[in-house]
Amino acid sequence: MKTYDIIISGAGPVGLFLACELALADCSVLILEKAEDPHSPLKQMPFGIRGLNAPSIEALDRRGLLDQLEVPKRVKNPFGHVGSAQAGHFAGIPFLYGDIDTAQWPHRLPSSTPTNMISEMAETEAVLTRRAQALGVEIRRGVGVTGVEQDDASVTVKAGYSSFQGLWLVGCDGARSVVRKEGGFEFAGTEPEFTGYTVKVDFANPELLNSGRNVTPRGMYFQTQPGYLAIQDFDGGAFHQRGEAVTLAHVQSVLRRISATDITISALHVATTWTDRARQATSYRNGRILLAGDAAHIHSPLGGQGLNLGLGDAMNLGWKLAATIRGDAPDGLLDSYEAERHPLGVRVLDWSRAQVAIMRPGPEASALHAIFRDLIKTRDGATYIAGRVWGITTNSVPNFEIDGVTVQALMRDGLGMLLDFDADPALRSWATSHAVKYVTGSVPDRLGYSALLVRPDGVIAWRDGDGDLAQAAAPWFNVARRAS
Ligand SMILES: Cc1cc2nc3c(=O)[nH]c(=O)nc-3n(C[C@H](O)[C@H](O)[C@H](O)COP(=O)(O)OP(=O)(O)OC[C@H]3O[C@@H](n4cnc5c(N)ncnc54)[C@H](O)[C@@H]3O)c2cc1C
Repeated sequence: MKTYDIIISGAGPVGLFLACELALADCSVLILEKAEDPHSPLKQMPFGIRGLNAPSIEALDRRGLLDQLEVPKRVKNPFGHVGSAQAGHFAGIPFLYGDIDTAQWPHRLPSSTPTNMISEMAETEAVLTRRAQALGVEIRRGVGVTGVEQDDASVTVKAGYSSFQGLWLVGCDGARSVVRKEGGFEFAGTEPEFTGYTVKVDFANPELLNSGRNVTPRGMYFQTQPGYLAIQDFDGGAFHQRGEAVTLAHVQSVLRRISATDITISALHVATTWTDRARQATSYRNGRILLAGDAAHIHSPLGGQGLNLGLGDAMNLGWKLAATIRGDAPDGLLDSYEAERHPLGVRVLDWSRAQVAIMRPGPEASALHAIFRDLIKTRDGATYIAGRVWGITTNSVPNFEIDGVTVQALMRDGLGMLLDFDADPALRSWATSHAVKYVTGSVPDRLGYSALLVRPDGVIAWRDGDGDLAQAAAPWFNVARRAS
């Protein structure tokens, strides 16, 4: 039996992105995907719309994938970009572009990629699949993982009567992850307060409903296009948990109650349910088995963070696991995946819980909702919310232009990089002794820095003025076994 470096369970966006990162670093990768067919109406517009935040956009651009996404170019961001236009929302409360103080983010240079954009799941997965295949990733569809076993040296993955062998296994198999259950992970968190519905319907009297997002005393309905709705019904998640079929009569009765109208549905075309159950694996690694994406954390889609969180996991894990397999990882590098990503998961789960808390029907939540509405209209309030929703962070390398080429374009090879704007020979020599690319050149705006060490995932490991380079680099880079 062939032993792969890594087996990934799940060819969703996170599994695919991770596979690309690993294959870019010369690892052999097998993806096992349960679904025979990658296509689904729920992955296509408008249901398949996913908001990408700044770190995801940067991650895609760093690997040359952003330009391959046509949907973000074609589809106007429904929130627009002018001052009075909606830039996003918190618990259904809009925040406006004109209220955001972007001067608080001076590291976002003119060459920065956008802070937010719309994408389509189907297209994102198609682009990632093409890249994975071009990099030599083997993808087997219609092969659902059913069991896992590990010893000190490898992992055996069962899929029905078939078995596959890998040095490592990463569960990217979504919210109901089999790898998480079979791999002995604890999944802790809070129970749902509502059942969410995604439906495509025809109405007999469509004029009774408003378009856009409507928070009512009984829940929320969001009509993106006529007949395309997301609905939030505070039933304690009971309907979703019963697992009953979503019928026309049921959707109509829920929608009538929430909208307080006599809306009549004449046809139901697509229906699926979800909840705000918020759970997170207490550990992201058990021996040779790791988790990423929805397999590691689930929460309500409010605020659109799940995909972004998962892509961030993949970006963080890929180069660390590859270095571990190559044998040139510093001690503890792989464990830094959980140390860095778990706290971010906690933040996102709490962000979604906070939104649910102020959307509950009832006077206490309405009172809080009103206070948030006032705060979000202030400059500081809008800037804070935008910073959280768009994932603005100062530990990601600014997109400097060096001799006319952006940092993100310089990172297509997936290597770490030492940027040295003053061409210091000592820094050049350090870079050549590590698996780190050395880059120098002229920079229009260096934001006050003369040198930065950047990890393959774009995170700044060291800046001049931060103390000793060797000490700061030690947790991330070892002396090179492969010359850069
Ligand atoms: C209505 C809605 C709106 C959303 N909006 C946003 C948004 O705007 N922004 C955002 O960031 N996020 C959003 N999300 C969340 C986002 O869609 C998920 O977080 C994201 O899809 C997670 O990606 P993933 O690859 O981890 O899991 P998935 O996309 O669930 O992929 C998992 C894959 O694993 C496969 N699989 C499952 N079981 C097995 C098995 N046993 N063996 C092998 N393969 C298996 C599945 O078939 C699937 O292909 C939204 C979610 C919903 C429901």
